[in-house]
Amino acid sequence: MKHTITLIPGDGIGPEVTSATVRIIEAAGVEIEWETHYAGAQALAKFGDTLPKELLDSIKRNRVALKGPITTPVGKGFTSVNVGLRKALDLYANLRPVKALPNVPCRYPEVDLVVVRENTEDLYSGLEHVVVPGVVESLKIITEKASLRIARFAFEYARREGRRKVTAVHKANIMKLSDGLFLDCFHRVAAEYPEIEADDKIVDNACMQLVMRPEQFDVLLLENLYGDIISDLAAGLIGGLGLVPGANIGEQGAVFEAVHGSAPDIAGRGIANPTALLQSGILMLRYIDEREAADRIQNALFEVLREGKVRTRDIGGTASTAEFADAIIAKLDKGR
Ligand code: NAD
Repeated sequence: MKHTITLIPGDGIGPEVTSATVRIIEAAGVEIEWETHYAGAQALAKFGDTLPKELLDSIKRNRVALKGPITTPVGKGFTSVNVGLRKALDLYANLRPVKALPNVPCRYPEVDLVVVRENTEDLYSGLEHVVVPGVVESLKIITEKASLRIARFAFEYARREGRRKVTAVHKANIMKLSDGLFLDCFHRVAAEYPEIEADDKIVDNACMQLVMRPEQFDVLLLENLYGDIISDLAAGLIGGLGLVPGANIGEQGAVFEAVHGSAPDIAGRGIANPTALLQSGILMLRYIDEREAADRIQNALFEVLREGKVRTRDIGGTASTAEFADAIIAKLDKGR
Protein backbone atom coordinates (compact mmCIF):
# COMPACT_ATOMS: atom_id res chain seq x y z
CA MET A 1 0.00 0.00 0.00
CA LYS A 2 1.29 3.44 -0.88
CA HIS A 3 1.09 6.06 1.88
CA THR A 4 0.96 9.81 1.46
CA ILE A 5 2.75 11.59 4.29
CA THR A 6 3.40 15.27 4.96
CA LEU A 7 7.10 16.06 5.31
CA ILE A 8 8.26 19.19 7.13
CA PRO A 9 12.04 19.34 6.73
CA GLY A 10 12.33 22.20 9.24
CA ASP A 11 15.44 24.36 9.42
CA GLY A 12 18.95 24.25 10.90
CA ILE A 13 19.93 20.57 10.90
CA GLY A 14 16.29 19.68 10.07
CA PRO A 15 16.77 19.16 6.31
CA GLU A 16 19.93 17.08 6.96
CA VAL A 17 18.32 14.67 9.42
CA THR A 18 15.02 14.46 7.52
CA SER A 19 16.72 13.62 4.24
CA ALA A 20 18.75 10.85 5.94
CA THR A 21 15.57 9.48 7.54
CA VAL A 22 13.58 9.58 4.31
CA ARG A 23 16.39 7.78 2.48
CA ILE A 24 16.46 4.99 5.08
CA ILE A 25 12.66 4.58 5.12
CA GLU A 26 12.60 4.38 1.33
CA ALA A 27 15.48 1.88 1.31
CA ALA A 28 13.39 -0.33 3.61
CA GLY A 29 10.87 -0.56 0.79
CA VAL A 30 8.01 1.41 2.31
CA GLU A 31 6.16 3.18 -0.46
CA ILE A 32 5.54 6.76 0.50
CA GLU A 33 4.62 9.82 -1.45
CA TRP A 34 5.97 12.76 0.55
CA GLU A 35 4.18 16.10 0.45
CA THR A 36 6.88 18.57 1.44
CA HIS A 37 5.83 21.74 3.26
CA TYR A 38 7.70 24.52 4.98
CA ALA A 39 7.00 26.06 8.37
CA GLY A 40 8.61 28.66 10.60
CA ALA A 41 10.93 31.37 9.24
CA GLN A 42 11.11 29.72 5.78
CA ALA A 43 7.33 29.73 5.43
CA LEU A 44 7.09 33.27 6.80
CA ALA A 45 9.48 34.51 4.09
CA LYS A 46 7.69 32.59 1.30
CA PHE A 47 4.02 32.71 2.28
CA GLY A 48 3.82 35.35 5.01
CA ASP A 49 2.70 32.77 7.57
CA THR A 50 4.74 30.49 9.86
CA LEU A 51 2.09 27.77 9.66
CA PRO A 52 0.62 27.99 6.15
CA LYS A 53 -2.90 26.70 5.62
CA GLU A 54 -1.61 24.34 2.88
CA LEU A 55 0.57 22.64 5.49
CA LEU A 56 -2.28 22.17 7.97
CA ASP A 57 -4.59 20.96 5.20
CA SER A 58 -1.94 18.49 4.06
CA ILE A 59 -1.62 16.99 7.55
CA LYS A 60 -5.41 16.88 7.98
CA ARG A 61 -5.71 15.09 4.65
CA ASN A 62 -2.83 12.65 5.16
CA ARG A 63 -3.26 12.35 8.94
CA VAL A 64 0.47 11.73 9.38
CA ALA A 65 3.50 14.01 9.23
CA LEU A 66 7.22 13.65 9.79
CA LYS A 67 8.80 16.85 11.01
CA GLY A 68 12.32 18.18 11.44
CA PRO A 69 13.09 20.75 14.15
CA ILE A 70 12.09 24.37 13.61
CA THR A 71 13.85 27.36 15.12
CA THR A 72 11.79 29.50 17.50
CA PRO A 73 13.13 33.02 18.05
CA VAL A 74 13.71 33.65 21.77
CA GLY A 75 11.92 36.57 23.41
CA LYS A 76 10.73 38.13 20.12
CA GLY A 77 9.38 37.23 16.68
CA PHE A 78 6.80 34.52 15.99
CA THR A 79 5.41 32.11 18.55
CA SER A 80 6.54 28.48 18.50
CA VAL A 81 5.45 26.62 15.37
CA ASN A 82 5.54 23.44 17.41
CA VAL A 83 2.98 24.78 19.87
CA GLY A 84 0.97 26.23 16.94
CA LEU A 85 0.81 22.84 15.22
CA ARG A 86 -0.33 21.13 18.42
CA LYS A 87 -3.10 23.68 18.92
CA ALA A 88 -4.24 23.82 15.28
CA LEU A 89 -4.55 20.04 15.00
CA ASP A 90 -5.53 19.33 18.61
CA LEU A 91 -2.62 16.93 18.99
CA TYR A 92 -3.57 16.06 22.54
CA ALA A 93 -1.15 13.23 23.27
CA ASN A 94 2.60 13.57 23.44
CA LEU A 95 4.34 10.24 23.25
CA ARG A 96 7.98 9.72 24.10
CA PRO A 97 9.41 6.21 24.24
CA VAL A 98 12.70 6.15 26.11
CA LYS A 99 14.90 3.15 25.58
CA ALA A 100 18.66 2.89 25.84
CA LEU A 101 20.49 2.44 22.53
CA PRO A 102 23.07 -0.31 22.11
CA ASN A 103 26.66 0.79 22.69
CA VAL A 104 25.73 4.43 23.37
CA PRO A 105 27.03 5.38 26.80
CA CYS A 106 24.26 6.16 29.27
CA ARG A 107 23.54 5.88 32.95
CA TYR A 108 20.71 3.34 32.76
CA PRO A 109 21.13 0.84 29.92
CA GLU A 110 18.14 -1.21 31.13
CA VAL A 111 15.57 1.60 30.84
CA ASP A 112 12.66 0.93 28.52
CA LEU A 113 9.73 3.19 29.31
CA VAL A 114 7.20 5.39 27.55
CA VAL A 115 6.07 8.83 28.68
CA VAL A 116 2.51 9.83 27.69
CA ARG A 117 1.88 13.53 28.31
CA GLU A 118 -1.41 15.40 28.03
CA ASN A 119 -0.66 18.20 25.60
CA THR A 120 -3.57 20.64 25.70
CA GLU A 121 -4.40 21.93 29.17
CA ASP A 122 -3.09 22.16 32.75
CA LEU A 123 -0.94 25.25 33.44
CA TYR A 124 -0.24 25.60 29.70
CA SER A 125 -3.64 27.09 28.96
CA GLY A 126 -1.95 30.50 29.15
CA LEU A 127 -4.60 31.91 31.49
CA GLU A 128 -2.62 34.30 33.68
CA HIS A 129 -3.48 37.70 35.08
CA VAL A 130 -2.37 40.25 37.62
CA VAL A 131 -4.81 40.24 40.54
CA VAL A 132 -3.31 43.35 42.16
CA PRO A 133 0.20 44.70 41.57
CA GLY A 134 2.65 42.16 42.94
CA VAL A 135 0.18 39.26 42.83
CA VAL A 136 -0.44 37.12 39.75
CA GLU A 137 -2.77 34.24 39.21
CA SER A 138 -2.04 31.43 36.75
CA LEU A 139 -4.88 29.04 36.13
CA LYS A 140 -4.49 25.30 35.99
CA ILE A 141 -7.26 23.79 33.88
CA ILE A 142 -8.00 20.07 34.11
CA THR A 143 -11.11 18.68 32.44
CA GLU A 144 -12.76 15.31 32.68
CA LYS A 145 -12.96 15.11 28.89
CA ALA A 146 -9.23 15.63 28.30
CA SER A 147 -8.24 13.43 31.25
CA LEU A 148 -10.39 10.51 30.07
CA ARG A 149 -9.12 10.94 26.51
CA ILE A 150 -5.42 10.87 27.46
CA ALA A 151 -5.90 7.96 29.89
CA ARG A 152 -7.62 5.98 27.15
CA PHE A 153 -4.78 6.85 24.77
CA ALA A 154 -2.21 5.51 27.28
CA PHE A 155 -4.07 2.24 27.84
CA GLU A 156 -4.75 1.71 24.14
CA TYR A 157 -1.06 2.31 23.44
CA ALA A 158 -0.10 -0.14 26.21
CA ARG A 159 -2.46 -2.78 24.80
CA ARG A 160 -1.28 -2.32 21.21
CA GLU A 161 2.41 -2.37 22.06
CA GLY A 162 2.21 -5.22 24.58
CA ARG A 163 3.11 -3.09 27.60
CA ARG A 164 2.23 -4.45 31.04
CA LYS A 165 1.67 -1.42 33.29
CA VAL A 166 0.51 2.21 33.23
CA THR A 167 1.51 4.50 36.11
CA ALA A 168 -0.31 7.82 36.58
CA VAL A 169 1.92 10.52 38.05
CA HIS A 170 0.22 13.35 39.97
CA LYS A 171 0.11 15.60 43.02
CA ALA A 172 -3.45 14.80 44.06
CA ASN A 173 -2.49 14.91 47.75
CA ILE A 174 -2.14 18.70 47.39
CA MET A 175 -4.20 19.56 44.29
CA LYS A 176 -7.12 17.47 45.40
CA LEU A 177 -9.60 18.80 42.85
CA SER A 178 -7.52 19.16 39.66
CA ASP A 179 -5.06 16.29 40.00
CA GLY A 180 -7.79 14.41 41.87
CA LEU A 181 -9.97 14.58 38.77
CA PHE A 182 -7.09 13.49 36.53
CA LEU A 183 -6.41 10.52 38.82
CA ASP A 184 -10.08 9.58 39.08
CA CYS A 185 -10.37 9.54 35.26
CA PHE A 186 -7.24 7.38 35.10
CA HIS A 187 -8.74 4.78 37.46
CA ARG A 188 -12.07 4.79 35.63
CA VAL A 189 -10.36 4.07 32.30
CA ALA A 190 -7.97 1.55 33.90
CA ALA A 191 -10.98 -0.56 34.95
CA GLU A 192 -11.69 -1.15 31.25
CA TYR A 193 -8.23 -2.69 30.73
CA PRO A 194 -8.01 -5.43 33.38
CA GLU A 195 -5.06 -7.12 31.66
CA ILE A 196 -2.89 -4.01 32.15
CA GLU A 197 -1.64 -3.19 35.64
CA ALA A 198 -2.50 0.33 36.80
CA ASP A 199 -0.87 2.20 39.64
CA ASP A 200 -0.11 5.78 40.56
CA LYS A 201 2.69 7.75 42.17
CA ILE A 202 3.01 11.24 43.56
CA VAL A 203 5.23 13.26 41.23
CA ASP A 204 8.06 14.00 43.68
CA ASN A 205 8.35 10.36 44.66
CA ALA A 206 8.11 9.37 40.96
CA CYS A 207 11.13 11.60 40.21
CA MET A 208 13.20 9.95 42.91
CA GLN A 209 12.10 6.47 41.84
CA LEU A 210 12.95 7.27 38.21
CA VAL A 211 16.51 8.05 39.21
CA MET A 212 16.89 5.20 41.71
CA ARG A 213 15.00 2.33 40.06
CA PRO A 214 13.80 3.37 36.59
CA GLU A 215 13.36 -0.23 35.48
CA GLN A 216 10.15 -0.47 37.59
CA PHE A 217 8.35 1.87 35.14
CA ASP A 218 6.64 0.91 31.92
CA VAL A 219 4.13 3.50 30.60
CA LEU A 220 3.89 6.80 32.54
CA LEU A 221 0.80 8.99 32.21
CA LEU A 222 1.06 12.65 33.16
CA GLU A 223 -0.63 16.01 32.92
CA ASN A 224 1.06 18.64 30.74
CA LEU A 225 3.53 20.27 33.17
CA TYR A 226 4.69 17.13 34.98
CA GLY A 227 4.90 15.42 31.58
CA ASP A 228 7.06 18.19 30.14
CA ILE A 229 9.55 17.88 32.98
CA ILE A 230 9.56 14.12 33.37
CA SER A 231 9.87 13.41 29.66
CA ASP A 232 13.19 15.28 29.59
CA LEU A 233 14.29 13.64 32.83
CA ALA A 234 13.53 10.26 31.26
CA ALA A 235 15.49 11.15 28.11
CA GLY A 236 18.44 12.04 30.34
CA LEU A 237 18.41 8.54 31.82
CA ILE A 238 19.39 7.05 28.46
CA GLY A 239 21.79 9.67 27.10
CA GLY A 240 19.87 12.85 26.42
CA LEU A 241 17.46 14.58 24.10
CA GLY A 242 19.55 13.99 20.98
CA LEU A 243 18.59 10.33 20.80
CA VAL A 244 14.92 9.97 21.69
CA PRO A 245 11.93 10.05 19.37
CA GLY A 246 8.66 11.84 19.91
CA ALA A 247 5.18 12.11 18.53
CA ASN A 248 2.23 14.43 18.98
CA ILE A 249 -0.95 12.58 18.26
CA GLY A 250 -4.59 13.63 17.98
CA GLU A 251 -7.80 12.56 16.32
CA GLN A 252 -7.09 14.65 13.21
CA GLY A 253 -3.54 13.47 12.72
CA ALA A 254 -0.14 12.71 14.15
CA VAL A 255 3.15 14.56 13.86
CA PHE A 256 6.32 12.57 14.45
CA GLU A 257 9.44 14.54 15.35
CA ALA A 258 12.75 14.41 17.13
CA VAL A 259 12.68 16.19 20.45
CA HIS A 260 15.97 18.01 19.88
CA GLY A 261 16.08 21.45 18.27
CA SER A 262 17.52 22.85 15.05
CA ALA A 263 21.12 22.87 16.44
CA PRO A 264 22.23 26.11 14.74
CA ASP A 265 25.77 25.52 16.03
CA ILE A 266 26.29 22.54 13.70
CA ALA A 267 23.73 23.23 10.95
CA GLY A 268 24.84 22.92 7.33
CA ARG A 269 27.94 20.87 8.13
CA GLY A 270 26.45 17.43 7.49
CA ILE A 271 27.49 16.10 10.89
CA ALA A 272 24.17 15.94 12.76
CA ASN A 273 23.05 12.65 14.22
CA PRO A 274 19.82 11.53 12.51
CA THR A 275 19.07 8.86 15.16
CA ALA A 276 16.33 10.78 16.99
CA LEU A 277 14.41 11.61 13.82
CA LEU A 278 14.94 8.11 12.46
CA GLN A 279 13.54 6.70 15.69
CA SER A 280 10.54 9.03 15.28
CA GLY A 281 10.23 7.67 11.73
CA ILE A 282 10.19 4.14 13.17
CA LEU A 283 7.38 5.16 15.55
CA MET A 284 5.56 6.63 12.55
CA LEU A 285 5.90 3.39 10.58
CA ARG A 286 4.38 1.45 13.49
CA TYR A 287 1.56 4.01 13.64
CA ILE A 288 0.74 3.45 9.95
CA ASP A 289 1.02 -0.30 10.49
CA GLU A 290 4.28 -0.81 8.59
CA ARG A 291 5.58 -2.81 11.54
CA GLU A 292 7.80 -5.16 9.62
CA ALA A 293 9.72 -2.29 7.98
CA ALA A 294 9.88 -0.49 11.34
CA ASP A 295 11.44 -3.54 13.00
CA ARG A 296 13.94 -3.99 10.16
CA ILE A 297 15.07 -0.36 10.33
CA GLN A 298 15.36 -0.55 14.10
CA ASN A 299 17.46 -3.71 13.89
CA ALA A 300 19.72 -2.11 11.26
CA LEU A 301 20.13 1.04 13.40
CA PHE A 302 20.90 -1.01 16.50
CA GLU A 303 23.38 -3.18 14.60
CA VAL A 304 25.28 -0.15 13.28
CA LEU A 305 25.39 1.32 16.77
CA ARG A 306 26.41 -1.99 18.31
CA GLU A 307 29.29 -2.40 15.86
CA GLY A 308 30.38 1.14 16.66
CA LYS A 309 32.42 1.57 13.47
CA VAL A 310 30.23 4.25 11.94
CA ARG A 311 28.97 6.82 14.41
CA THR A 312 28.43 10.57 14.38
CA ARG A 313 30.51 13.04 16.40
CA ASP A 314 28.01 13.62 19.19
CA ILE A 315 28.42 9.97 20.22
CA GLY A 316 32.17 9.84 19.81
CA GLY A 317 32.64 9.04 16.10
CA THR A 318 33.70 10.87 12.94
CA ALA A 319 31.01 9.84 10.44
CA SER A 320 28.83 12.33 8.60
CA THR A 321 25.03 12.23 8.67
CA ALA A 322 25.03 10.69 5.18
CA GLU A 323 27.66 8.06 6.03
CA PHE A 324 25.70 6.99 9.08
CA ALA A 325 22.53 6.69 6.95
CA ASP A 326 24.47 4.71 4.31
CA ALA A 327 25.69 2.26 6.97
CA ILE A 328 22.11 1.64 8.10
CA ILE A 329 20.94 1.19 4.51
CA ALA A 330 23.77 -1.32 3.91
CA LYS A 331 22.51 -3.37 6.89
CA LEU A 332 18.95 -3.21 5.56
CA ASP A 333 20.12 -4.54 2.21
CA LYS A 334 22.03 -7.36 3.92
CA GLY A 335 18.95 -8.34 5.92
CA ARG A 336 16.82 -8.95 2.80
P1 NAD B 1 19.17 21.99 20.23
O1 NAD B 1 18.57 20.66 20.54
O2 NAD B 1 18.99 22.50 18.87
O3 NAD B 1 20.75 21.91 20.51
C1 NAD B 1 21.33 21.61 21.79
C2 NAD B 1 22.73 20.99 21.58
O4 NAD B 1 22.56 19.63 21.11
C3 NAD B 1 23.57 21.69 20.51
O5 NAD B 1 24.91 21.69 20.91
C4 NAD B 1 23.40 20.85 19.28
O6 NAD B 1 24.49 20.89 18.39
C5 NAD B 1 23.20 19.45 19.85
N1 NAD B 1 22.34 18.62 19.01
C6 NAD B 1 20.97 18.71 18.91
N2 NAD B 1 20.52 17.82 18.02
C7 NAD B 1 21.60 17.16 17.55
C8 NAD B 1 21.77 16.11 16.60
N3 NAD B 1 20.73 15.56 15.95
N4 NAD B 1 23.02 15.69 16.33
C9 NAD B 1 24.08 16.22 16.97
N5 NAD B 1 23.99 17.19 17.90
C10 NAD B 1 22.75 17.67 18.18
O7 NAD B 1 18.62 23.00 21.32
P2 NAD B 1 18.67 24.60 21.35
O8 NAD B 1 20.03 25.06 20.89
O9 NAD B 1 18.15 24.94 22.66
O10 NAD B 1 17.58 25.05 20.28
C11 NAD B 1 17.88 25.54 18.97
C12 NAD B 1 16.59 25.94 18.28
O11 NAD B 1 15.74 24.80 18.09
C13 NAD B 1 15.76 26.96 19.05
O12 NAD B 1 15.28 27.92 18.15
C14 NAD B 1 14.62 26.15 19.63
O13 NAD B 1 13.45 26.91 19.81
C15 NAD B 1 14.42 25.11 18.55
N6 NAD B 1 13.77 23.87 19.03
C16 NAD B 1 12.91 23.28 18.18
C17 NAD B 1 12.31 22.08 18.54
C18 NAD B 1 11.35 21.44 17.60
O14 NAD B 1 11.21 21.89 16.47
N7 NAD B 1 10.66 20.39 18.00
C19 NAD B 1 12.62 21.46 19.76
C20 NAD B 1 13.55 22.08 20.59
C21 NAD B 1 14.12 23.29 20.21
